[in-house]
Amino acid sequence: MSDASTATATSATSEPAPALAAMPRAGWHVATVVATRQETAKAARLELDVDGWPGNAAGQHLDLRLTAPDGYTVTRSYSIASSGPGTRVVLAVDKLPDGEVSPFLVDEVRVGDRLEVHGPLGAFFVWRPVDRGAVRAAGDGAGGAASALRARPVQLIAGGSGIVPLFAMATAHAEARDLTPFRMLYSVRTPDDLFFAEELMALAAASDVFRLDLVYTRRTPDGWPNLAGRVTRAALAAAVLPATERPIVYVCGSTGFVERVASWLIELGHDARDIRTERFGGI
Ligand SMILES: Cc1cc2nc3c(=O)[nH]c(=O)nc-3n(C[C@H](O)[C@H](O)[C@H](O)COP(=O)(O)OP(=O)(O)OC[C@H]3O[C@@H](n4cnc5c(N)ncnc54)[C@H](O)[C@@H]3O)c2cc1C
Repeated sequence: MSDASTATATSATSEPAPALAAMPRAGWHVATVVATRQETAKAARLELDVDGWPGNAAGQHLDLRLTAPDGYTVTRSYSIASSGPGTRVVLAVDKLPDGEVSPFLVDEVRVGDRLEVHGPLGAFFVWRPVDRGAVRAAGDGAGGAASALRARPVQLIAGGSGIVPLFAMATAHAEARDLTPFRMLYSVRTPDDLFFAEELMALAAASDVFRLDLVYTRRTPDGWPNLAGRVTRAALAAAVLPATERPIVYVCGSTGFVERVASWLIELGHDARDIRTERFGGI
């Protein structure tokens, strides 16, 4: 994808292949880029206004399709950094230097460009605030109905751009003034590689129930108490909610990061059914 004009949506009727004729076409939306900003030295934040978007839950993703003038199309998945009703959708894309799509999204896309998106997608890697009305209605009487409705604590674990859906969850948690204990462990290479840096610091500073733990794998800020280095099993054990508290754990990042962390969580006693993972690819 080398030409920004290729980001415009194609009409469904321009697809000639007869084999595709019976395929459902509903669900693809035209998204207009309404704002862009540099997120890190090699990542961009894109704010889209999506025609007919039904809103989305925190943690969901979408498929984004680009079409070249010769009809060649390429589709990639992107997590949604925003949640709730309305047609605004925020993405944050990390540029893979040899990638086909991400350099185009980070370097070429401009306000006013149009993209095609499909979604929202995903039902499992999702967090929803506690329904306080339902908790009140259930009361605190015998039988523990209200307690059963209260959410279990949440541990978020992100590697690199895997922060995107977890940021949506942390924001939804704060906006709902949800009292569920939330912890986030976020591993990045250097302080310059933090996505949503200001917002995350503000969320942590403003809340008694949201705690942010950062791990720098290549370079730490000045005065940082720990050495730079990858998350280890011991560091994970020290930072995350213990298995005895039965947290729901959301892990997101490159495939290697997610698989390493998920296997350590199992070794640390977490039930596999409580671990929700989203793999972004790579190793
Ligand atoms: C559900 C889901 C949600 C996602 N959400 C986001 C998101 O919010 N932000 C974001 O930046 N990306 C996200 N991704 C990754 C995204 O879909 C693309 O894979 C990524 O942008 C690379 O696409 P590309 O066309 O530039 O690279 P490609 O041309 O597909 O790949 C180029 C090279 O990079 C390798 N590679 C591909 N993906 C990765 C990776 N994640 N890490 C390391 N190496 C990789 C490939 O093996 C290949 O060697 C998500 C993926 C999934 C499945």
